[in-house]
Amino acid sequence: VVELGMPTRSVITTCAYCGVGCSFKAELRGDEVVRMVPYKDGGANEGHSCVKGRFAFGYASHPDRKLKPMLRERITDPWREVEWEEAIGYTARRLLEIQAAHGTGAIGGITSSRCTNEEVYAVQKMVRAAFGNNNVDTCARVCHSPTGYGLKQTYGTSAGTQDFKSVDQADVILLIGANPTDAHPVFGSRMKRRLRAGARLIVADPRRIDLVRSPHVEAAHHLQLAPGTNVALVNALAHVVVTEGLVDREFVNDRCEDFETWERFIAQPQHSPEAVADITGVPAEELRAAARLYATAPNAAIYYGLGVTEHSQGSTMVMGMANLAMATGNIGRQGVGVNPLRGQNNVQGSCDMGSFPHELPGYRHVSDDAVRSVFETLWGRTILAEPGLRIPNMFDSALDGSFRALFVHGEDIAQSDPNTRHVTAALSSLDLLVVQDLFLNETSKFAHVFLPGTSFLEKDGTFTNAERRINRVRPVMAPRTGKHEWEIVCELAQAMGYPMKWDDAAQIMDEIALTTPTFAGVSFARLDRVGSVQWPCNDAAPEGTPIMHVDGFVRGKGRFVETVYVPTEERSTRRFPLILTTGRILSQYNVGAQTRRTGNVAWHPEDVLELHPHDAEVRGIRDGDTVVLASRVGETSLRARIDDRMPVGVVYTTFHHPATGANVVTTENSDWATNCPEYKVTAVQVTLKQPV
Ligand code: SF4
Repeated sequence: VVELGMPTRSVITTCAYCGVGCSFKAELRGDEVVRMVPYKDGGANEGHSCVKGRFAFGYASHPDRKLKPMLRERITDPWREVEWEEAIGYTARRLLEIQAAHGTGAIGGITSSRCTNEEVYAVQKMVRAAFGNNNVDTCARVCHSPTGYGLKQTYGTSAGTQDFKSVDQADVILLIGANPTDAHPVFGSRMKRRLRAGARLIVADPRRIDLVRSPHVEAAHHLQLAPGTNVALVNALAHVVVTEGLVDREFVNDRCEDFETWERFIAQPQHSPEAVADITGVPAEELRAAARLYATAPNAAIYYGLGVTEHSQGSTMVMGMANLAMATGNIGRQGVGVNPLRGQNNVQGSCDMGSFPHELPGYRHVSDDAVRSVFETLWGRTILAEPGLRIPNMFDSALDGSFRALFVHGEDIAQSDPNTRHVTAALSSLDLLVVQDLFLNETSKFAHVFLPGTSFLEKDGTFTNAERRINRVRPVMAPRTGKHEWEIVCELAQAMGYPMKWDDAAQIMDEIALTTPTFAGVSFARLDRVGSVQWPCNDAAPEGTPIMHVDGFVRGKGRFVETVYVPTEERSTRRFPLILTTGRILSQYNVGAQTRRTGNVAWHPEDVLELHPHDAEVRGIRDGDTVVLASRVGETSLRARIDDRMPVGVVYTTFHHPATGANVVTTENSDWATNCPEYKVTAVQVTLKQPV
């Protein structure tokens, strides 16, 4: 068999890219993965896959991988390879010295949505128990933190309401700020199948994404709104529902609270489609027709992405969508709901695992004495009742000198976070930066310690996808670095004087189940037996929970919230007349650390700037020209692509390539409730790059 080049064994595991969470059979010959076969019994993908999961796994054996720990005293020094013992001992000693000199709160950690639930749980435990503070945050801060806030305020928990299958029962799909055929391809295909079967589609997006018009699919309405006006738009839809008698009174009376106050608010004339048309740029009759279509469908479902959350009013918009779904009774059964399409593979899980500075695992606030005492009893350490620093606060505190050391776990903040100049200034000012990753990424340029991480092919644990499905991630090979990431975290905690130990990842999940009621029924043994399960999974829901809020909301009654539209401070000006919005494309993933090291890079070797033919013409720009993209905080150069999918006045790019570094131009503006950056609205200037 080996001579024929056929695989000799296979392992069922989970894709490490997007929040769909497709299951694959990794087929190996010896220790080499020869192909990834989509797994037909995968709960999220049922045998389907995309070009990332299927083909882009070669980065795990790319020669750029670093497999040994490295140290250097100063960031100008060359790296020096060391053994694990020296790296961990040095890191622990420096962290303790910094705490002795500057206080317990002078250090912190950032976890990653690319890591397993078990790894994230270990990091937040290390920060809380060994560092002795709540200075732990997750990269979900910069993507779906408004989902966490908005859905908790309205429904009681931070999670999408449906399973993916539910879309098969939707009669109308309202897709807001998401481009699933590029960013969530397997779910995008499922949505397309439903649309081809007759469901109607409303797209709210400044760009004419593929689903607006593609073979056999045409949106009933494309609400091509101006970037930054989401809340005005959703309020207008709700205004039509309220003023045209389309409210589901029975649902609202039985299941919700604060409706009357909200009804008076939303019925005000400033929320009418006619008043809002000027703000959003969407004709009033289009808004009215879309609202009627959504509200009168037997089943209408909302799906949304980062085009909702990455705004100064991201949290308000999440609550606006939650209001709309409740007012029309579109919650608690198949075919309806409010569904965040999570970007990275484990955004849901990293948030579930308590990696926010204000929440312990299971979304329970650190100020809750009863919850803290559960962890304090088990961990044998006091947990602070005050929230710690968020990522942007860590940067600001680094610059003012009060925050001195950072542990970054699997995240390239120097490329992914907004306003690169501000981020790198903060990183440069730290006394100690520890990076745990596969590659020497942009962030590691400012690091003193590099701890090599493991790829998904070496990990043992779980990822939780956008439908709350907990999938097993099984190792197809031993860690090439010699250690699992959770083991490194344990050893670091121990070297700092806090005894932290598990025998294997299954024991970490057992601790999660013990401390987190929504995971009480989850174990590796169970997952291996049933394949996957959707939380909550406990005595009240022993089989897991495909659809949430069926008989009542997690918080009891669903709560209507007044969603006042506040225009973003970021406006186009004479100097910066265009609005930049950012996103991603099918073949690449996030900062591209993985996909750029696979054959996928051939399909998208560089980031490009898309702009409307009119905007190109008035600037003398032709397709393929190199242009300078500048905002008030920085500038970069990239090639132009003229594309009439863009509206006049709006330009678009991706942030997959560090050579472009699109976040050089994005600003410090952020969501009022969560500090999620406003990546989707930056005033910019685009000029033809002159030859030097
Ligand atoms: Fe992986 Fe997402 Fe593609 Fe599925 S849809 S194979 S999870 S990248």
